[in-house]
Amino acid sequence: MASAIEDHTAVEKFKGLPPILSKKFNITAIEQDVLKWNKEWEAAIASSTAADVLKEITHFLDDSFFKANDIEFLHENLRSFQDKVAGILRSLFDEGHFDTIWLLLDATEQRRHILEGLKGASVAPTFWGQDCRALCPEVTVSNFLSQGGKGFIDFLTLVLETFESSVKPAFLPNSWWEQASNLPNPWWGQASDVSPRKETSQSTKLVFDVATTNRNLFIAQFVLRSTFSIVHDITNRSEGMKKVLHVMENTEGYIARSLAMAKTTLRDKPLIRCDNCTKTPEDIGQGVRFMVCSVCKTKLNFEVHYCSQSCQKQDWSLHKRACGKKRVSKGLRGTKGDSLWAFDDSNPAAEMIRNSETKNGRGMTSLRDLGVNPCKGKRSPAAERQAEMLEADRDVDYFLFTPSGDTIRFVIDNPGAKMIFRINRGMVMMQTSDTGIEAVGEYMLKIMSGCPGLSRDIILKQLCAEHGADTTKKIVRLEQKTRERGKGTFIESWLKDSSSIFGDWAWLGLL
Ligand SMILES: [Zn+2]
Ligand SMILES: [Zn+2]
Repeated sequence: MASAIEDHTAVEKFKGLPPILSKKFNITAIEQDVLKWNKEWEAAIASSTAADVLKEITHFLDDSFFKANDIEFLHENLRSFQDKVAGILRSLFDEGHFDTIWLLLDATEQRRHILEGLKGASVAPTFWGQDCRALCPEVTVSNFLSQGGKGFIDFLTLVLETFESSVKPAFLPNSWWEQASNLPNPWWGQASDVSPRKETSQSTKLVFDVATTNRNLFIAQFVLRSTFSIVHDITNRSEGMKKVLHVMENTEGYIARSLAMAKTTLRDKPLIRCDNCTKTPEDIGQGVRFMVCSVCKTKLNFEVHYCSQSCQKQDWSLHKRACGKKRVSKGLRGTKGDSLWAFDDSNPAAEMIRNSETKNGRGMTSLRDLGVNPCKGKRSPAAERQAEMLEADRDVDYFLFTPSGDTIRFVIDNPGAKMIFRINRGMVMMQTSDTGIEAVGEYMLKIMSGCPGLSRDIILKQLCAEHGADTTKKIVRLEQKTRERGKGTFIESWLKDSSSIFGDWAWLGLL
């Protein structure tokens, strides 16, 4: 039986279709300005419903356009493409470094690869070309760049899971899109510009299926082309990839991974919050535009934000004392006035600093406040003594003891090393994880073994008494690894490698 697809009439008809959605949304041509093109698409997607989109599509075709085996053909076509993409994704993930490399890339590079994927998918053979973007609200640059790029990795993981979980064409779940699956379309009867219709839900069933198939085809094309763009840069050691490849080739895998993970928790710019109600524009939504105090802006070039006039009024009794005279905001979490704005709430270092901040009832002071948190397990008596001494003298990073009973204060000057040391020390003292002691021990051994009254054995003996008999074994294992690498200790390498990704940590010293 001949069908619309097999005898090519459908394909021919599609060729004759004018751009529908890109025209409706008045999208800038991709070759003219790709960033503008993307920005306009993201705004259009955010302001549409699936019903709007489907309605536009059905202006040009209805279910009578398709026969049952057309749908079958489209499904098979989608599935075979998904098999190909799943195979590629699987090998990328199994190879092991792909996600780390991606996360270590800076945001400009990440954006470029996503745009390459979107551009490629827009010219790929689907029914609607770039208009398919309107069917894929999750495929946006802003989604994929979230959390330092983790958004993209999470998406690829979901795609791979979905593709591998079925032998049938896989439809990526999306509640926004699914709302259009069985529309009791209130607009249907009023759509006078649409030629005679049959029953409401019936008349969009096949069109919805075809649109869903194309939505998924667009997604698979995007995945293929964006990952290809990344792999191409890796193989060719392109300019934007060099720094990351250098880190990958010169550090232990676990260091590169911990850097990549650290990056997923850093903000790339401060948040804007209303200085009165503390809400962000995202909290309020609907494209709200915040206002700034104009006096502070003109006189001090300083921005104090408000979500509304009423919030500005409410805050006036507080703000008026400094307004126009001093650069004062409340320094709300994540805003420019918060010295830890780059760290979101999931970052353990920032949380430790913040916790000590509230405990002491004063503003952000220094790294010395990165103290020893309460223990979540049970410490040995020796570790308990160490914790008490550290709490009592916050300037000290660790107390070492000579056999004759003298106490030696171990104090780190480098702010970055101090931070990493104290984060690891915190993990050891809280006993929330099995790691931390290696890095702490290795670093102290290197710096303090030659100190009068101390030796490698003396320090190791103390650490074993505090943190368990297998402590020496753990430290030696780490030392072997770092020796093979022929570079400094774990903490030193972490600092060095992180500075090529995050810049140096000197700002920590200003805290
Ligand atoms: Zn407000
Ligand atoms: Zn002001």
